[in-house]
Amino acid sequence: MKEEKIPYKIYLTEEEMPKQWYNVRADMKNKPAPLLNPATKQPMTLEELSGVFCTELAKQELDDTNAYIDIPEEIRKFYKMYRPAPLVRAYCLEEKLQTPAKIYYKFEGNNTSGSHKLNSAIAQAYYAKEQGLKGVTTETGAGQWGTALSMACSYLGLDCKVFMVKVSYEQKPFRREVMRTYGASVTPSPSTTTEVGRKILEEHPGTSGSLGCAISEAVEVAVNTEGYRYVLGSVLSQVLLHQSIIGLEAKAALDKYNITPDIIIGCAGGGSNLGGLISPFMGEKLRGEKDYHFIAVEPASCPSLTRGKYAYDFCDTGKVCPLAKMYTLGSGFIPSANHAGGLRYHGMSSVLSQLYDDGLMEARSVEQTKVFEAAEAFARVEGILPAPESSHAIRVAIDEAMKCKETGEEKTIVFGLTGTGYFDMKAYEKFHNGEMTDYVPTDEDLKPGFDSLPVI
Ligand SMILES: *Cc1c(COP(=O)(O)O)cnc(C)c1O
Repeated sequence: MKEEKIPYKIYLTEEEMPKQWYNVRADMKNKPAPLLNPATKQPMTLEELSGVFCTELAKQELDDTNAYIDIPEEIRKFYKMYRPAPLVRAYCLEEKLQTPAKIYYKFEGNNTSGSHKLNSAIAQAYYAKEQGLKGVTTETGAGQWGTALSMACSYLGLDCKVFMVKVSYEQKPFRREVMRTYGASVTPSPSTTTEVGRKILEEHPGTSGSLGCAISEAVEVAVNTEGYRYVLGSVLSQVLLHQSIIGLEAKAALDKYNITPDIIIGCAGGGSNLGGLISPFMGEKLRGEKDYHFIAVEPASCPSLTRGKYAYDFCDTGKVCPLAKMYTLGSGFIPSANHAGGLRYHGMSSVLSQLYDDGLMEARSVEQTKVFEAAEAFARVEGILPAPESSHAIRVAIDEAMKCKETGEEKTIVFGLTGTGYFDMKAYEKFHNGEMTDYVPTDEDLKPGFDSLPVI
């Protein structure tokens, strides 16, 4: 038995909760490349961005210099309802694995959206409200972001229009009802309610939709409806900024007990939870104060970092959004029907892309059945049924802990447990029935996506 000097859960008091977000871009020598206007290929100006996003959020998107940004009082109040999120010492998992490694996870699943997405949803809804807007539009894939945004909008009295990827809309009727409980309107995408939706339906009749496609529809409605703006749940630098609350809390909790992690692991879809978790630690690394080993974990079926190209690309299928320079599989890449819905995005945050390109972070891809093996092992000892997305991080945390078992090293591992998997029981069922397969695209499969990259 290990000595248990560190509590199972490290909580912060309300006073110890962060009062500012941390903007890692301020400490980056190589700044992430700017968003480009797809028509002019020039950097997007504040004015141009403000046509799509709330003005304050557009400012945050362009802010590469301010390291700390005050969290408005109203947002801090909302955070206090479900935060601080606990930093849990995974004693039971360590015991089960018989590893000398010390494993911690930051659990973000303690709210109805079941994920970290509420951290940015409340911020984005707040700035929309401050600007006097009537409502916001967005897309959702697996449904966590749509749920989070519905919750934030209902709290602040804003209208919320969600375009939900059709396959999820049909497969996850309960998610849809959660959103409607919070007053959001939910439209399956592609739909006939938008021009871009009708065009996509014409070109691909019977398509089950994609995130890139739902984004195009949500943007079209936002720019054509008075008093509305578009909000996005990941990828953007403003979202990473809001999600820095995860890393700041984790760091404050670790500091309380003088714990310095060796390895920090997160799953990477658009990069917001990983970016948020590692930001304050990456800041220390960038400033030369400390060193950490960061690992981004992505599905082998949608390997943006490990097999993508670092290039300017469209963020959406309809090509209405600004161009972002990122590790991408191409906006024309159609991910396989992989269950980790929240990780099925062709691109990656430009902040993380730049950090990865600069060699400051490692990326690994993992196969689905291996992910569910880890998910189940974790669920059986730690009392939380993890989301498939989060389980990518669990997989690599267990792999690293097992390496420590071989070498006898007592490394400290921290990973982000982004959410719970109660709405993913179909995937768990497939796994239990032995019907889950691993899809790894061939180079040939990836080619059409790369061919769709714009020439800049
Ligand atoms: C959306 C989501 C993710 C992936 O999104 P990122 O922006 O990469 O963080 C991971 N886990 C859960 C539970 C999610 O809902």
